[in-house]
Amino acid sequence: MFEVISRAGCGRIGKYSDGSESFDTPALLFLDTERFPGSGVTLARKDDANAISAGGMEISLPDYSGYPHSSDAGAEPILHERTCLLRPNSHPEAIKALRGQADLFILENSIELYNNAKLFIDTVARVRDAIGYQSALYLLGVALPNNVALLAYLGADILDTARVAVLSSEGWFLTQDGTWLSSDGGTDPCSCEACSDGSLYAHNTAALHSELLRTRARISNGTIREFVEYRSKTSPKLVEMLRHLDMQHFHFQEQRFPMVSGKFAATTRLSLGRPDIVRFRNRIIERYRKPPTPDILVLLPCSARKPYSQSKSHGFFARAIEQSRAGPRIHEVIVTSPLGLVPRELELFYPAQHYDIPVTGHWFEDEKRMINIMLKEYLKINKYSQIINHLGDTRLLEGIDARVTGGTNPTSNESLAALTGALVELAPDRQDWKSRSSEEIASMARFQFGIQAGELFSDCAMAGRYPNVKIMRDRKQLASISQANGMLVPTIDGAGLLAHAGIHTVTMSEFELTGNLFAVGVESADPQIRAGDEVAVLRQGKLAASGTARMPGEEMAQSDRGEAVRIRHKA
Ligand SMILES: [Zn+2]
Repeated sequence: MFEVISRAGCGRIGKYSDGSESFDTPALLFLDTERFPGSGVTLARKDDANAISAGGMEISLPDYSGYPHSSDAGAEPILHERTCLLRPNSHPEAIKALRGQADLFILENSIELYNNAKLFIDTVARVRDAIGYQSALYLLGVALPNNVALLAYLGADILDTARVAVLSSEGWFLTQDGTWLSSDGGTDPCSCEACSDGSLYAHNTAALHSELLRTRARISNGTIREFVEYRSKTSPKLVEMLRHLDMQHFHFQEQRFPMVSGKFAATTRLSLGRPDIVRFRNRIIERYRKPPTPDILVLLPCSARKPYSQSKSHGFFARAIEQSRAGPRIHEVIVTSPLGLVPRELELFYPAQHYDIPVTGHWFEDEKRMINIMLKEYLKINKYSQIINHLGDTRLLEGIDARVTGGTNPTSNESLAALTGALVELAPDRQDWKSRSSEEIASMARFQFGIQAGELFSDCAMAGRYPNVKIMRDRKQLASISQANGMLVPTIDGAGLLAHAGIHTVTMSEFELTGNLFAVGVESADPQIRAGDEVAVLRQGKLAASGTARMPGEEMAQSDRGEAVRIRHKA
């Protein structure tokens, strides 16, 4: 039996067990042969026995077909006990038909496939999707110290030392950040025990194993994507694979990508393609709508400190805007890479306060293009009477008509005075804030729950001091705002609104809910739900509880193991 315990990116931490014995995944299988002895490891594959032994557990494997992947012969998946052998050209429908019958799927010919970066990514994504969420995937003979992170991020649960054995016998010295022939080294570049004993194979497997443990830790703490970007840079092929995955398999990744992850550094251009960042950018264009009242757009630069409003520079901007007394007519939008545009009311929303970038004032061409295109798209949908560019940079706004107040230094006295002056001139009468916060709540709800949700949360008011606020309507609290990730967290009354509209709903079977809701008790779930989303739980069409999804809606509906919803309130 295989159970997923936690998720990050498309990677998972899992447990494979037979009831009494178990091992954790992602796992590394050690070859245990005469030439490459496994020497006491818990997880091993003996070539002659054709079985995996894990502690006292034995998983018997089907015979490999040995056909090259280009051959159509033998494309049918081979089921043997609870293990299934797949070939790269096995048809997804044939694989899907075996869901529930196998705990472990093994992809044969992985190495032949691996040599073609795009084909490899396409095949693994297709296979991962077809076998479903609650089976383990074993990629045979491809793991190296610098690709383990990417393979686990793709959803591989079991890897082995076979490729390392081959490269070791050819004299390759393997590390997490590169590979070279050991005879080229001159001096010994490693202080590990194996190297002092002169065993290249032992060094290489140790490097692979320690990378696997590090990868597992990165999945656990939610920073696997950042780690994959970092490791990918050690080889053009890995960059090609990650780019191809980002460009061609966004939906595959986004569906599995939790709504909230750990803080991360966006230090490479690969970060532009992070699925959680692309999801944020897409939702700004597809779901978000500006509050109707403000008609002057003020574009502000981001700050190193997050949330932006806590930074010194944004303190200056706030005072300059306040002095103009035009506040209610102003909509502040922060311009940043890799997120693009962050409306002020979304500055707490993941990942807006969770990313770090090098602050050099220099933009890469693809960042400039991304921001310019996004801004143009945004302005097609969200109309303003005037745009003020207080970025300290005019290059991002090419082709957009805006009044420049930021000069070259947006926090200089001169620039701040120009900002106040422009706002006084454009909005000379003192305005009041009536209805503004209600509009912002609706905008936030749309962004988080989808287009129809804006109406559900209309005519609400904020009580308390930002960011520690309650969302109220008719003296009833509907939600609060999470300071950790900026999400609206519905009360049971707020969840009632979602339930009524059929947004983010999970339908459970008929039983009394005593603790959290497990996948076995889920009948159906909104496929829009991602791990980390706030959801409403229904039973027989009536609201039963509210809580936070622990897995995607699709996985809840498909699986019968694992925690599906962490319950917050019961109805
Ligand atoms: Zn070593």
